[in-house]
Amino acid sequence: MLIQSDYHIHASFYRVKRETDDPGPTAAEQVAAARAAGSVYVGVLEHCNASSKHPFYCLEELSNEYYSPGFPAENVFLGVEADLNDDGSDFCGQAGREKLQLHYVTGSVHCSPEKISSIEEYLAWEHRCIINALKYNPNVDIIGHPFGEGKRWVKSGDIACWHWGLIPENYLEDILHLASETGKALEINRGDFDDPVYMDFLRKMRDSNIIFEVGSDAHIPGNCVKAAVRTQKLDELGFKKENHWRIHR
Ligand SMILES: [Zn+2]
Ligand SMILES: [Zn+2]
Repeated sequence: MLIQSDYHIHASFYRVKRETDDPGPTAAEQVAAARAAGSVYVGVLEHCNASSKHPFYCLEELSNEYYSPGFPAENVFLGVEADLNDDGSDFCGQAGREKLQLHYVTGSVHCSPEKISSIEEYLAWEHRCIINALKYNPNVDIIGHPFGEGKRWVKSGDIACWHWGLIPENYLEDILHLASETGKALEINRGDFDDPVYMDFLRKMRDSNIIFEVGSDAHIPGNCVKAAVRTQKLDELGFKKENHWRIHR
């Protein structure tokens, strides 16, 4: 049995909002929700990117909460979800990591049809970002939700439905090969478990002993249970506990 872990939980309190918006959960509130959902190892984070919703001072405030006396930090870790650039660099960088006293950096691609209009170009761009991060960026520990943005091109009308069969096979092979070589973790996040190409990708991850990490991507406490569902799926697929990403401190 895998030990249920969730390293992708947003402390959404730490972002710029309108006054009418819900304030969002603090780190302590998300840790409580993750515990209630059965996660043993927990990672809280927020976005680190160029968006005006995510200025760096918000991350400093999150770090202050984490390192404040009384915070339930046992088996709880502090990370960021940093946007990847196509040269493989990440928006947080080594200096940001040190300033925030982070335990890990998850590098993710966030994209939308407003930025890149065709799905083919998006897929090529994400492939480039991930490959370069795996090859050249020692600051990134985990690749967050690979090809997790595809659904957005359904909304824009570019494709009728999103499925992993749209991703060129060599993109997936490149990622598997480099993840295996570098020992960086690939995240199980969106959970397209009824997609045969995704399932094939997961089996290849399992068979190549690629390091994996499970993320609920919860922005509200109620979504922390998604880690339990995803971990159970990986258990059924026979993922091995020795390949489950862990922080040792
Ligand atoms: Zn993300
Ligand atoms: Zn996220």
